[in-house]
Amino acid sequence: MADIQSDVPPFQPTMPPAPAPSATPATPPCERCLALADDPRRREPPACLALRGTAPVVRQSAAGVPYSMLSFSCRDCGTAWRLYDRANELFVSWVPERPLER
Ligand SMILES: [Zn+2]
Repeated sequence: MADIQSDVPPFQPTMPPAPAPSATPATPPCERCLALADDPRRREPPACLALRGTAPVVRQSAAGVPYSMLSFSCRDCGTAWRLYDRANELFVSWVPERPLER
């Protein structure tokens, strides 16, 4: 009795589709973060922002202007902010690490 040769390749399990990572943050920005985005030049941080780290990061811009950067994160919505403070400038600028979704 001869063995029956089969041309069917051995069974290969198909890869399950990878779950799509959720790119959107779970928490929408709170009102104070939205207000800060509308007024990014004020020096006083909103009460909901907590300073991350201790010392400001001091860098130089491409034009040679030194500036310092502080990192904040919101206690309410978790939005991460960077505060840029350039030397000899009246205003600062708040920049969210990712664009706020309204
Ligand atoms: Zn917030």
